Amino acid sequence: MNPPIQESPDGPTSEVSVYRSDSSAAFFDGAAREALLVKQCTECGHLRAARRSVCRRCGSPEYAWRDAAGTGTLITWAVNAASPSSGRGLSQPFGLIELAEGPWLESLLVGVESKDLYEGAPFAVTFVRGPDGDVFPAFRPSPSTAGDHG
Ligand SMILES: [Zn+2]
Repeated sequence: MNPPIQESPDGPTSEVSVYRSDSSAAFFDGAAREALLVKQCTECGHLRAARRSVCRRCGSPEYAWRDAAGTGTLITWAVNAASPSSGRGLSQPFGLIELAEGPWLESLLVGVESKDLYEGAPFAVTFVRGPDGDVFPAFRPSPSTAGDHG
């Protein structure tokens, strides 16, 4: 069992290695309390990934944050992909996960070797701490649902 993550009352006190902006602050605050947040359109109710600024169904920029279950399946992945924010290569595979709720989310994949990845593999969210102490969601294989088909 992990101890609860302490939040500084003054917010982040060191530079983070993930990109954080006013619009994504709630997402990372959610990650700090181990919640995976998605946006729910307040116009039509459609769910979208946190980085999407407008609803794909109705085009509305309005949204409310909602906790996702944190489970999903692997759509595709890349190994040694360049990090979008830093341009440096990543040693861990980077995948596109379709959440159980529907939105697609790009994520680091942890606890799995690239040779063991396959389309449709079940994954579950986990929360990793970056080198500067920032917490962000990643996905690991989900054995609890691996045999749940047929
Ligand atoms: Zn909408």
